[in-house]
Amino acid sequence: MLAYACLRTICGSIMNRVDVYKGWCKKCGICIAFCPRKVLSAGEDGFPVATDIEACTGCRWCELRCPDFAIVVTPDEHAEDTND
Ligand code: SF4
Ligand code: SF4
Repeated sequence: MLAYACLRTICGSIMNRVDVYKGWCKKCGICIAFCPRKVLSAGEDGFPVATDIEACTGCRWCELRCPDFAIVVTPDEHAEDTND
């Protein structure tokens, strides 16, 4: 069965979102290793978890480095609006 894990939190004015597609994720840890802000860590089941989402800049480095297209970053819409 396919499933998404929504790793979202509310943190002040910025709410980036990181979704892990568990059906494709092989728990390799590459996204965890490459996150420059140390946002991600391995959960009890081995899948990446955004344990410090407040520190996420929305750079999408984790998404770009995932060899299995299993992680998707959605930058906060309000943050984009404030840049107009
Ligand atoms: S890089 Fe991709 S496959 Fe590897 S742990 Fe992260 S989301 Fe899963
Ligand atoms: S978008 Fe950037 S800061 Fe956020 S979890 Fe991914 S690599 Fe880390």
